[in-house]
Amino acid sequence: MSKLYFRYGAMGCGKTMQLLQVAFNYEERGQKVCVIKPATDTKNGDKLLTRIGPERVTDFCFSRDDDLYALVSKKYKNVDCILVDEAQFLTKEQVDQLLKITIKLKIPVMAYGLRLNFRMEDGGFDGATRLLQVAHDIEEIKTICECGHKATLNCRFLNGKMVVDGPDILIDDGKSKIEYRALCPACFYKNLEEDK
Ligand SMILES: [Zn+2]
Repeated sequence: MSKLYFRYGAMGCGKTMQLLQVAFNYEERGQKVCVIKPATDTKNGDKLLTRIGPERVTDFCFSRDDDLYALVSKKYKNVDCILVDEAQFLTKEQVDQLLKITIKLKIPVMAYGLRLNFRMEDGGFDGATRLLQVAHDIEEIKTICECGHKATLNCRFLNGKMVVDGPDILIDDGKSKIEYRALCPACFYKNLEEDK
């Protein structure tokens, strides 16, 4: 049975690196993969980049209106695996389309993404929430907070101060310094207190 896998982790845990490793393993055995990512993530064009070097051009970038089941049925029916980067930006419908790909086309789909946005308090990302609900197989990719404990949260820092409101995607206007840090819940609350 082909499965829908969700591999989640905070920023900097090496999600894209793992995705590229899986692609490499398939191709080393002479099998084909299809690597996709949402067009929402435009910072690197159609490329997947990792902090430690390896990169790869995607097979296609999709927008929020694309039917992934239809696209894959048409052009990628013969691949052995579909790999999705930045899967938190999928719509709920697109996650269901990926699930349909595993059932009807019998192609395994591995989706990599964040579990929760930086605001912490609302519903998070539609794609991640739906993946947590329907994926066959869910696993965390772990990373470490500045204090040494396990980081589970993605925090946005504007000019060195943590912020918990604003849009999902912040366009860099060149004036303020935008950073994301993976923190443990204790450090998240510590930053929240300090900023008050
Ligand atoms: Zn911490």
